[in-house]
Amino acid sequence: MYNPKKHTIKAKELEYEIKEALKFYPHLEQYGIIFRFRIIERKSFMLAQPRLRTMILPRRWRQFEVIISKTYFTKNKHFENGRVPSDIVIGWIGHELGHITDYMDRSSVNLALFGFKYYYYKWFIKQAEITADTFAVHAGLTDYLVVSKRFGRDPKFFPQDYIDKLNSLYPSVEDVLKWDKMHREHQEELKNTDKMNSVNFLEEE
Ligand SMILES: [Zn+2]
Repeated sequence: MYNPKKHTIKAKELEYEIKEALKFYPHLEQYGIIFRFRIIERKSFMLAQPRLRTMILPRRWRQFEVIISKTYFTKNKHFENGRVPSDIVIGWIGHELGHITDYMDRSSVNLALFGFKYYYYKWFIKQAEITADTFAVHAGLTDYLVVSKRFGRDPKFFPQDYIDKLNSLYPSVEDVLKWDKMHREHQEELKNTDKMNSVNFLEEE
């Protein structure tokens, strides 16, 4: 849920989408997150990172940021009004919030190493992307995630080399749907055990 005390939305044009994505992450309410526009290198349109200098502070003062390419999301020539459709943006932000969930409990040293490995090792990128998408699925964002993944792999919108990069480093739509199914089954099992436990409890009384 959006918490004005902790979350700073500088990317005003995407305020609606950011707030929608935050609704899925109640546990991020108490973490400082800044959403802002900036030009991003390395053929990326959005990324999440810790503000490293805040990582030495106690947890409640730590800050993370989601950096967004303004041109890409608000002046996109593929769309008449220049804007990438909301559902896609929500899925995309939801994925980045999955990364932040992954960063939350890491130490500053661990996060610095994380950045280093993410930059240099493909296997590490793959692993980090799986983790982020898994968190997003568990948060309930599957539908949005699928829409944004299909978009990212659509040759109408992206050059083939970008699509190839996505396919080699990021989980597929099928992966996401598989995790979603597993998660639902697991939740169902938990519910049933809960029911059984409460029945036992009543009997003991
Ligand atoms: Zn990612």
